[in-house]
Amino acid sequence: MRAEIKNQITQMNEQGIGYKKIASELNISIGSVRNALREKDEGAICKFCGKKLNFVEGKKRKVYCNDSCRYDYWNSQKKGGKPNEHGQFE
Ligand SMILES: [Zn+2]
Repeated sequence: MRAEIKNQITQMNEQGIGYKKIASELNISIGSVRNALREKDEGAICKFCGKKLNFVEGKKRKVYCNDSCRYDYWNSQKKGGKPNEHGQFE
């Protein structure tokens, strides 16, 4: 991925734009958006919508901001399993 695209992804994410929107605006896959942002700030944003997450010190990091995003992510993946709050499929 070109650095120019990565910068755009980062900027859009900082403006609070969700993964889906960023992906369609830049004509790339949601997975590419996620990967670009993961490099920047591992685990600090919702895996589905890209919103920033608040962490409690000492607790395992969550990867979704709420159950709704967890289920939407699950539906978007259609892997036949249900991811837990840490994004792992059980
Ligand atoms: Zn979310």
